[in-house]
Amino acid sequence: MPDHRDLDWILTHLGEDREKYFGAVAPPILQSSIFCFASVADMRARMRDEYAEHCYTRGNNPTVEILRAKIAALEGAEDCLVFGSGAAAISAAVTASVSAGEHVVCVQKPYSWTHKLLAQLLPRFGVRCTFVDGTDVANMENALESATRLIVLETPNSLTFELQDLAAVASLARARGIRTLCDNSYASPLNQSPIALGIDLVAHSATKYLNGHSDVVAGALCGPQAILREVFKGPFMTFGAALSPHDAWLMMRGMRTLRLRVERSGTSALKIAQWLEAHPKVEQVWYPHLPSHLQYALAKRQMCMSGGLLSFAPRCETIAAVERLCDALRRFLLSVSWGGYESLACPTAAFLPPDTPVDASLPRPSPPNLVRLSIGIEDADVLIADLAQALDRI
Ligand SMILES: *Cc1c(COP(=O)(O)O)cnc(C)c1O
Repeated sequence: MPDHRDLDWILTHLGEDREKYFGAVAPPILQSSIFCFASVADMRARMRDEYAEHCYTRGNNPTVEILRAKIAALEGAEDCLVFGSGAAAISAAVTASVSAGEHVVCVQKPYSWTHKLLAQLLPRFGVRCTFVDGTDVANMENALESATRLIVLETPNSLTFELQDLAAVASLARARGIRTLCDNSYASPLNQSPIALGIDLVAHSATKYLNGHSDVVAGALCGPQAILREVFKGPFMTFGAALSPHDAWLMMRGMRTLRLRVERSGTSALKIAQWLEAHPKVEQVWYPHLPSHLQYALAKRQMCMSGGLLSFAPRCETIAAVERLCDALRRFLLSVSWGGYESLACPTAAFLPPDTPVDASLPRPSPPNLVRLSIGIEDADVLIADLAQALDRI
C-alpha cells in the first residue's frame, strides 16, 4: 500500500514541473490536438515514440501525462495509460492480451460491461471466456486451459463484494505465464495494491474514487511499460478512447482530495454498514469489513479498509416496499455509478419489473430487494438518520 507521506507527495507535487509554466500552482490545460516540431529530423525522432513524446493528443499530451504519472505512482506501477472511460481501459487491456483461438478466465459477476465484453463481444472474434466463482482460487486453477492467456479479476466486485485472493491468483498465473488484470476501482489505489501482490495490470474506472466529483468519465490502466506500450500500439491508438486534456485536469483537481474522500467515505460506510446490520428491518448487509462477510479475514489481509460502497437487503415482501423506502430517502440521490462526494442509492428493483417476487427461497446472488448505497463525504449520522426514517416506511 502506498505510504502516506508518499501519497501526499504524489497527489500534491509528483509530475508537476511548475518552473516550466511560470510557477503556476495548478498545471496548465494544454488544449492542443497537435504539437509542432523544430525540424524534419526532430519530427522523425519524436514521431517514432508517440508513447512518450508529444505529437498528437490521441496518443499523449503534457497535461494528461501529469495525471498518468500520478496514477502510476499511486498503484506502484511503472506507468499508466488513461482513457475516456473505465470500460475503455478494461477493453484495451483485454484486447491487447488475447487473439482468436485463445481463452480468458474471469471472475463471476464482474462489472456489467466487462461481462458483455467477454461474454458477447469477444466470442465474435474467436476469444472464449470462462466465468468462475473467484472466492476459491482452486476454481480458477481448474478453469485454466492451455489456450488461457489472461485472468480477469475484480476484487471486491461492486454489488455483493466477493473477493479474490490476489497473491494466490498471481502466483498461480505467473507459474504458467498467464497475464493477470485486476479492476481495482472499488478499493482505490489507497486501500489495495494489486501490483505489490504480483498482479500484472490494474484497471480503474477513474470516474469513481479517483475523480470523485461525478463530473468526469475516465479510466486508467497501470502496469509494466512493456505491456502498456503493447496496449498503446494496439487498442489504445486504434480505438482512440483518449482522455481530453480538460478532463485530465479535472481529474487531477479531484485527486487532490483523494485521501480525504476515500478515508471519510470508508469510515462512514463501515459505521453505516454496522448500523444497518443491527436494524430489525434489515435482512442482510454486504460489506467486506464486516465480520459477517464470508471473506472478512481475506478483506482484512488484502485491503487497508473497505470503500464507501455497501449493499443491504431491507425486509420487504414486495418491490413496492423497496420503492417506498428508496423514494423516502432525502440525503441519498437515486442514481447509478458511485465514488463521488455525494451519497447515492441504487436499488436492484429499478432494473426489474415492479411485479418481480421478493422471495427468499430463490437463488440470491443479487436479490431483488438489494439496495446499493454509495456513501459520500457527508456526516455519517445525518445519513443514518435519513436511512432510519426511510426504513420506517416499510
Ligand atoms: C463503473 C465501473 C467500471 C466502468 O467504468 P466507466 O468509467 O463507467 O467506463 C468498471 N469497473 C467497475 C468496478 C465500475 O464500477
